[in-house]
Amino acid sequence: MKLEKYSMGIGDRFGHQAKAQLTAIEKAAKQGVNISPVWNKSHREHSIIKTRPADVRTAADSAVKEMGYSGSYYVDADHIGLKNVDLFIESSDFFTLDVADFTGRAAAAEIIAKFVEKYKKYAGKLKIDGIEDSFQITVERIEQIAAKYLLAVKEAGQIYRHIESKKGAGNFITEVSMDETDQPQTPEELFFILAAIADEGIPAQTIAPKFTGRFNKGVDYVGDVDQFAMEFEQDLAVIAFAVGEFCLPENLKLSIHSGSDKFSIYEPIRKAIKKFDAGLHLKTAGTTWLEEIIGLGLSEGEGLVIAKEIYKNSLERFDELCGPYATVIDIKKDNLPSPQAVDSWSGNEFAKALRHDQNCAAYNPNMRQLLHVAYKLAAEMGDRFLNALEASKEVITSQVTENIYNRHISRIFYK
Ligand SMILES: [Zn+2]
Repeated sequence: MKLEKYSMGIGDRFGHQAKAQLTAIEKAAKQGVNISPVWNKSHREHSIIKTRPADVRTAADSAVKEMGYSGSYYVDADHIGLKNVDLFIESSDFFTLDVADFTGRAAAAEIIAKFVEKYKKYAGKLKIDGIEDSFQITVERIEQIAAKYLLAVKEAGQIYRHIESKKGAGNFITEVSMDETDQPQTPEELFFILAAIADEGIPAQTIAPKFTGRFNKGVDYVGDVDQFAMEFEQDLAVIAFAVGEFCLPENLKLSIHSGSDKFSIYEPIRKAIKKFDAGLHLKTAGTTWLEEIIGLGLSEGEGLVIAKEIYKNSLERFDELCGPYATVIDIKKDNLPSPQAVDSWSGNEFAKALRHDQNCAAYNPNMRQLLHVAYKLAAEMGDRFLNALEASKEVITSQVTENIYNRHISRIFYK
């Protein structure tokens, strides 16, 4: 199983938007840009919403069938580890091995020593095609990187082999993710991480490092765009070089987590993948859920009542909702509209505050981030919420498709 050059992680928390999402993918295909959709959902999301991995498979398969979609598509067991991977074995054919918790913990001294012995040949000036300056690598630096990441890569190896023993080699796609850590990984760290991944025999087709800057949920990138652009290009160069050096899968590419809505870095990303003729996996995650809320608001009536109720409850349960996402949100509480103010809004006003249109004065990134993590409240509404989604199907569908196609695909893959 070989992942195509461009792919997109399209989370669909409530399993109602697969067709709307696929419509965006098909629109791109008509323009000559082939993107493989990957329906991803993490164990955390499943637990909060009380769904099972099989539900994602069912939603994906039926959307594909109903639309007569003939391209490749995948179901991603997102951010799994040894503790929960078994729940996903049957339904998934894409596995995002999350070993972030194992970074920064040192492997046994003899394992580190062996790694350093093998790779000290890269010490000195390391020149990589596509990067102007050489990296200055020392043996001590290799040792530091090994101490920081080897244990995590070993863990990824264990998870990979566990899945392989159940599904058989070549029957699934493997991603290694280290994005949910405090520190970004530098291009030179990435190089040695890839060496370790090759040593473990993990046929990784995507790798998700933590990039420089903040990737808050549902809002734009926060950080130094030029710095990001430089590191991103260097990462692409490092991957191309490492594939040759370490015999990794030739389609190995970067995966950008929380990649939705990062509008200010889409141009550098687009230029870089063009320059290096590189692939890309972009995970958009919860942005579709926000379009559902926008669509509910726009449909007025019960839909707007539900949207306002979720917002009001999200203010009351702020800490509970934000806690699990503390490192990936940045909400200025003082800039959140009061429930009284929101109560007086029309559906259109509600949508304007929430929709990610930076040219719109009413857009409120604080409210957007809070509602991004508030999907639990919709899940608690059960059928009342799901019935509202059905009742407002048409308007929601157009919001979901427009968001993925106009605000994401067209900005990243062509302009
Ligand atoms: Zn992630």
